[in-house]
Amino acid sequence: MEKDRKLIIAGNWKCNKTVAESVALVTDLKRDLASVKEVDIVVCPAFTALDAVSKATPDSNIRVGAQNMGENGYGAFTGEIAAGMLRDLSVRYVILGHSERREYQRETDAIVARKAAAAHAASLIPIVCVGETLGEREANITNEVVEKQVRGSLAGLSAEQVEGTIVAYEPVWAIGTGKTASSAQAQEVHAFIRKVVASLHGDAVARRVRIQYGGSVKASNARELMSQPDIDGALVGGASLEAKSFVDLIKNSI
Ligand code: PEP
Repeated sequence: MEKDRKLIIAGNWKCNKTVAESVALVTDLKRDLASVKEVDIVVCPAFTALDAVSKATPDSNIRVGAQNMGENGYGAFTGEIAAGMLRDLSVRYVILGHSERREYQRETDAIVARKAAAAHAASLIPIVCVGETLGEREANITNEVVEKQVRGSLAGLSAEQVEGTIVAYEPVWAIGTGKTASSAQAQEVHAFIRKVVASLHGDAVARRVRIQYGGSVKASNARELMSQPDIDGALVGGASLEAKSFVDLIKNSI
């Protein structure tokens, strides 16, 4: 069944690659993905490579995202990067609340919500990550955990802002582990997230919001996952670090 939501596939390069390596990768992606019109393609390099990757992608179908940003804007916030600084580099997207930041930097739903509001205020599109741990899945509290994260991380956003937010469902146990949620498991949580969004902002917003799946997505499982009715794309770690694996994953999704 054709979806009316356009697929969005984003590569999260995490803390990898020099500036030269980042430019080399995006240059290969530009060449190999030039004909792809069916997918919004995003790459999220480290902060240090954002400028160079941005400058390597004008007039292409590849957009650039950051992996985090500060919640406070400009000012006396040593070590932070303001949303406006990202816009200044032609960055369009920003990943917020990735499980690695929730775990290692103790990011809470409230912090993610403030960052999401700051991102929208600067016309950046936030990619807000949610997902349960293995223990939470085994304790049968996946829906409860994910609902709390979705409500908390989108708190204070208007209906229009939520519609313009990408939600990424990333079960923590599937990130970087080679274990993927089955397409049925993923679909079930995606449909549930859409219901939570509907309860917050109504059916029309829920129908339009795009929800990515993330967790060991690769070329071989992309088609099956992307064909689920409520899966609108992927947030990809490992398989986005080499041109061939990311290109094959994208081409297999359409
Ligand atoms: C991620 O870090 O967002 C991710 C999904 O990683 P991987 O694809 O490597 O599991």
